[in-house]
Amino acid sequence: MAPYEKDMDAPLTDASVVAPQAASRRYSVVYPAVATMLFWHLSGIYGLYLGVFYAKWATIFFNVILYMCAMLGITAGAHRLWAHRSYKATLPLQVLLMLFQSLAYQHSALRFARDHRAHHKFSDTDADPYNPARGFFFAHIGWLLVRKHPQAITKGKGIHVDDLYRNPVLVFQNKYSFCLTSLLALVLPALVPTYSWQEALATAHHVSALRVLAVWHAFFTTNSAAHERGYRPYDKRIMPTQNLPVTLITLGEGFHNFHHVFPFDYRAAELGNNCLNLTTKFIDLFAWIGWAYDLKRASPDVISRRSNRTGDGTDLWGRVEEDLVGSR
Ligand SMILES: [Zn+2]
Ligand SMILES: [Zn+2]
Repeated sequence: MAPYEKDMDAPLTDASVVAPQAASRRYSVVYPAVATMLFWHLSGIYGLYLGVFYAKWATIFFNVILYMCAMLGITAGAHRLWAHRSYKATLPLQVLLMLFQSLAYQHSALRFARDHRAHHKFSDTDADPYNPARGFFFAHIGWLLVRKHPQAITKGKGIHVDDLYRNPVLVFQNKYSFCLTSLLALVLPALVPTYSWQEALATAHHVSALRVLAVWHAFFTTNSAAHERGYRPYDKRIMPTQNLPVTLITLGEGFHNFHHVFPFDYRAAELGNNCLNLTTKFIDLFAWIGWAYDLKRASPDVISRRSNRTGDGTDLWGRVEEDLVGSR
């Protein structure tokens, strides 16, 4: 069995459940990161003003489509495909997902997958880069503004990433991430509305900045809100929860208690036929045309037994019988 499989490709066992932990620490603030974040937040707020009062409907619609593509790049690509290898994808689908992920303006999918594997292996402790045990703000955005905890650096080096560095699509994106993300997330989304339907360049750019900001904050909630608010129908001993608002804004990533217990399941949820899980629908669509294959899922029997043994007894967003039957 490859090291990756030992680390990630199995349900969370009793032995791997670790109590949340956050030792007191002195933060080392990365001021350029703070300045960059401030800049994008001010640009996004101005984009909100221009979007409400001046933008054309075509510009708004265009950015909503880009939001969904960027989110799918993170959820179906960086998260479920590359971080968890919960299914396999042909080269054209990998290229498409890489371009979508570049729209999110979030470094590279390779970096995301590496950090995310550490998040699962050392969940809610100081070796977890986002450590939700350190509070909502840190898990949401604070971790991007300070230097990594020494434990996250030391233990992070033990995370298996060989498969990521062997993937030419990921290596290419990682190498040219600044150019790719700038071009796809900012330059083209500003130029297309300007030349296609005569939107003002400043409006097109700032609405684009607002969309980038919206994608960031929406996905950040999987580390903050979905580790704090909600039910735990699969394992009440861990922080991750089932969170409906997070599910809505991330196109299906809010079934987070399930996802941490069964990280290998491509649906990242038990409710495989749930209309809120658009990422699963997207993967199913590509499986139908043959571009996605080897889709892994936990068996209903295993899920049910685990839920009965360690769940908090709730059914909400976890165990609804007709959905369970429909997803088989
Ligand atoms: Zn998590
Ligand atoms: Zn995950």
